Amino acid sequence: MHRLSSSVRVVLFLLAISTGPVALAADGKQVLLLHSFGTEMRPWSDYARGIREELNRQSPWPLTITDQSVISARYSNSKLEKPFVEYLAALFAEQTPDVIVSVGAPAAAFVQRNRGQLFLSTPIVLTTLESRRIQYSSLTRNDVVVPIQIDYKAVIANILKVLPDTRHIAVVNGTSPNEKFWSNLIHEEAARLSHHVEFIFWDSLSFDDISKEAARLPPHSAIIWEGMSVDAAGVVHDGNDAFKTLHAVANAPIFGYTEPLIGQGIVGGPFNAVYDTSRTAAAVVVRILGGETPSDIRVPPLPFSTPRFDWREIKRWGISESRLPLGSEIVFRDRTAWQQYRWQIAMISTVVLLQAVLICVLLFERRRRQVAEVQARQRSAELAHINRYSMAGELTTTIAHELNQPLGAILTNAEAAEVLIKSTSPDLDEVAEILADIRRDDQRANDVIGRLRSLLRREPLEFKRIDFNDVARDTLQFLAALAIARKADLANLIGLTPLPIRGDVVQLQQVILNLIVNAMDAMSDVSIADRRITISSARDGNAAEVSVSDLGPGIPKEKLKDVFEPFFTTKPHGMGMGLSIARTIVEAHGGRLFAENSAKGGVTFYVRIPLAE
Ligand code: ADP
Repeated sequence: MHRLSSSVRVVLFLLAISTGPVALAADGKQVLLLHSFGTEMRPWSDYARGIREELNRQSPWPLTITDQSVISARYSNSKLEKPFVEYLAALFAEQTPDVIVSVGAPAAAFVQRNRGQLFLSTPIVLTTLESRRIQYSSLTRNDVVVPIQIDYKAVIANILKVLPDTRHIAVVNGTSPNEKFWSNLIHEEAARLSHHVEFIFWDSLSFDDISKEAARLPPHSAIIWEGMSVDAAGVVHDGNDAFKTLHAVANAPIFGYTEPLIGQGIVGGPFNAVYDTSRTAAAVVVRILGGETPSDIRVPPLPFSTPRFDWREIKRWGISESRLPLGSEIVFRDRTAWQQYRWQIAMISTVVLLQAVLICVLLFERRRRQVAEVQARQRSAELAHINRYSMAGELTTTIAHELNQPLGAILTNAEAAEVLIKSTSPDLDEVAEILADIRRDDQRANDVIGRLRSLLRREPLEFKRIDFNDVARDTLQFLAALAIARKADLANLIGLTPLPIRGDVVQLQQVILNLIVNAMDAMSDVSIADRRITISSARDGNAAEVSVSDLGPGIPKEKLKDVFEPFFTTKPHGMGMGLSIARTIVEAHGGRLFAENSAKGGVTFYVRIPLAE
């Protein structure tokens, strides 16, 4: 900031630092960019920068773009203009610019006023000025206007649309001639709405005082930022500091209509788009440099663009997005988690999804396996049952023989009792003895049938705490008759110390039965004297072991494992299922069934079941 009194010194300083007449490349073009309020005053600085960028982009020729600011535009003091005109004349003495581009109304007015003394024949493109600021009467054949339209009605309507409860609108504006022009237009609009809203004009206050007022506005207030070049105290405000200060202290939302302010702290609304103006202005300049007559080029005023709002300000002032005009653009929105971590989220989701799919597949597989296991268990139970039936066939003759004995004894005893009773003095004690014998034989026959029935019964597996020795002993007894028929000697080496295990009696009986019948089969060609099958039991670590040894031919070493495979048989009428079923049963008990050839001939089968706790 500096005081008006120093302005003359500034002009002289500018003259002093000029490096002499502007030189130019041989085939290049020279453009003079004439600013209104210095090169850093927003929003004009943004327009100038946009025009420069667009010129460099669109021009087919190399360009020399020289920036100059109409330093006198801020003040009403017309005396300042003369030395500045002289300075420009000196600067471009040798090479007049091919085109002059004025940025903003003051620069346009300056160049129109002074073109007689400066560059009479140089085309001028007047940009970034409102159509109402153009002195059409002063336009020559060499002038083109790229006008913009400032619509205060729309600016105020926007405030009342997004904040319908607004009761007070304060207007921030400076006191330079240009700023006064706009104040008058805003006053006109305000007068139309005075019965709805109270308009507060701060143009008679210093900017310091304006800042204080802005901090204590009543509720339901809004601020319109028009500009602040020179305040009522004569203080010149360069750059963007005044707006920043106001934004920092104001207790009400600020509205404006120039694009560069969006993002600086205004709420937003319809606005003059820098890019549109810059691009249009640059296109006009290029056409003129290409030889077109300026007055032939007509550019209609560029209206406000579609409303644009700053999301942070909308949130700050609690403005609902539904209140924004249809089609509004919202900028500076906080990026959502998805926008910030899109890749990470996508990757994690993919992994989770894959995991979920994998889990589903595994669960499905597990279910299938469970079903298959249940089916397999059912099949093996059925097979075991069939195997027992086939065994029963083999046992039929011996069972019949076993039943014959008690039945025969019962008959003999009954006949003896009859004879005794018919005698004149029957010995009742003897009759009682005979009856007891009958009862005992009947019990024996009953036991034989009971054992057969339990072998053939078809019941689900029932794991109970049992003594493995008892199982072996019962099986031995069951096969006693068959052994006699087969002329085999069953040697009982079953221990007396109990071997507690958890298991199903019928199925374990079936295993031992299979092993003994196989041993009998294996020894059918062995001399009767050597047909000895030894059934032993022992405790082996944590397991109960029952073994069945024979003195048959043994099993070739390479076949010791094959004999447990289903359908492996060397017998003419064999099924090859007995050992396979036996192993399945033992494994279902958590145990092991295996065979070893004995050194003295024959083979020993071992059944090992874990001892119960
Ligand atoms: P199968 O008795 O119907 O043949 P197994 O599965 O019970 O079916 O037996 C399979 C085969 O194992 C028998 O055919 C036989 O070759 C062999 N085997 C079983 N036990 C003995 C044994 N004690 N001595 C020699 N070979 C045996």
